[in-house]
Amino acid sequence: MLARLQPLGISQAREICLNLPPAALVAEALQNGEGTLTDTGALMADTGQFTGRSPKDRFVVRDENTAASVWWGDINIPFDPTKFEQLHQKMVAYLADKKLYVREAYAGANADYQLKLRVVNELAWHNLFCYNMFLRPGAEADTAWTPDFSIICAPGFEADPAVDGTRQKNFAIIDFTRKLILIGGTGYAGEMKKGIFGVLNYLLPHERATLPMHCSANVGPAGDTAIFFGLSGTGKTTLSADPQRGLIGDDEHGWTPEGTIFNFEGGCYAKVIDLSREKEPEIWDAIRFGAIVENTRFAPGTHTVDYANKSVTENTRTAYPISFIPNAVEPGVAGAPQHIFFLTADAFGVLPPISKLDKSHAMYHFMSGYTAKVAGTEMGITEPQTTFSACFGQVFLPLHPTRYAEMLGRKMDENPNINVWLVNTGWTGGSYGTGSRMKLGYTRAMITAALAGQLTDVPTHAHPIFGVQVPAAVPGVPAELLNPRGTWASPAAYDQTAADLAQKFVKNFEKYADFASADILAGEPRVATVLAS
Ligand code: ATP
Ligand code: MN
Repeated sequence: MLARLQPLGISQAREICLNLPPAALVAEALQNGEGTLTDTGALMADTGQFTGRSPKDRFVVRDENTAASVWWGDINIPFDPTKFEQLHQKMVAYLADKKLYVREAYAGANADYQLKLRVVNELAWHNLFCYNMFLRPGAEADTAWTPDFSIICAPGFEADPAVDGTRQKNFAIIDFTRKLILIGGTGYAGEMKKGIFGVLNYLLPHERATLPMHCSANVGPAGDTAIFFGLSGTGKTTLSADPQRGLIGDDEHGWTPEGTIFNFEGGCYAKVIDLSREKEPEIWDAIRFGAIVENTRFAPGTHTVDYANKSVTENTRTAYPISFIPNAVEPGVAGAPQHIFFLTADAFGVLPPISKLDKSHAMYHFMSGYTAKVAGTEMGITEPQTTFSACFGQVFLPLHPTRYAEMLGRKMDENPNINVWLVNTGWTGGSYGTGSRMKLGYTRAMITAALAGQLTDVPTHAHPIFGVQVPAAVPGVPAELLNPRGTWASPAAYDQTAADLAQKFVKNFEKYADFASADILAGEPRVATVLAS
């Protein structure tokens, strides 16, 4: 067994558990005191000090392979190859007396584009997370397995920043030459899945002419594919779980030169804050034996998860194999999308709940990647926080965002019948504090109508500032909700807030001046028009 770990520099361990099935990993996790069972049989674990990814501690090794290709900066923070090797050796020494959980799995549901992975975990529940989230091989994993990329994840190992070149004791570092990700000092399991996403975001465009996308995807009975781009919390996972449509995946997909899409993952990682069976039955029912729930708490005196409890974090999560969703499509592959949804949780309450984009607007909004989060747990902050994240996921992009945007533009030119929609899953009737979040049922109805072609012949009007086409009627949705200005108590306040938001878009886009052709700028909000009127 050790021979399998030799390429990773690991020549000593107390014990090695290779590709344990879920029940064995759950038993290990319980025995190790890593977690406890909920009354639905899910394994409940805490991630520790880090309850989310730590973008400031995410590095890429800078060497002759990557120096010229990677988009260096505060997203892809350069890391010295010698320091990486040093840290690697220290981690190996740290693991020498530990029981190790090793998992061999795939990333990429399309066999022509997949990566073979090997993950070495200090924690049994992390290994279960990898079983759930990556693609599960058959018996081939237990025989010959030559990984294309590996992860060593040791939450109990802490770096010494002064010696190791990290920022603090926790780190996630990708080395494209050694084909290895090192994760230490953090127990947030999402670092592993987003680490591999980063790897694919580099390799696929670079080597395979494939567009990687931070989006969910599902497919209708007629084989019509829809994809949903959006930053965290905008609804990718929630809205892709649709009983009328097959689920391809909830977070990461690739679009191949052959014009098909495929899921990178084998599972879903859903937020469970305030989860209810009534609103999200598919996700609720997936939380059973084999699933993991992270950072949740029980109702007092029970083993029933209280999803309203935010005492650990707002970012409570569940991870389960995609087959736990009744309509999952396996393998997760489908044809080119006919509908692209850009999801935004606009906490200013400015953007229409649904609007149609032409190519210029689509490119502009893809590069802008706008959402506005509410401050959440931070005390005293009541203003929504604006986020612009290129391609709706710039923190995961090792290459410059324009590389991905150009690829999407070409895909749209090749597929002129694609419908692109902007969906505001955020606020209506005013900004955060005054208005309220758009009802999930209405958002679902708008998406269903768009997918059914029911918005094609509906009269629309152009939003006066953003220029996007707003439908006058959507089946199952009160018409007055569709035009956000009319939902505000004060239309003048709406105009002011909309002008402010438009200004932020324009300001953000200044950094793409080199890329901004007249075509793309035609999708920019009209700040001047508003000020003049
Ligand atoms: P991540 O990238 O972090 O996985 P995500 O885009 O998958 O994020 P979801 O997990 O789908 O985001 O989170 C959306 C959250 O917002 C859910 O908790 C959902 O219940 C809630 N929500 C409330 N109203 C709406 C709405 N109108 N549309 C979509 N989601 C809504
Ligand atoms: Mn999600």
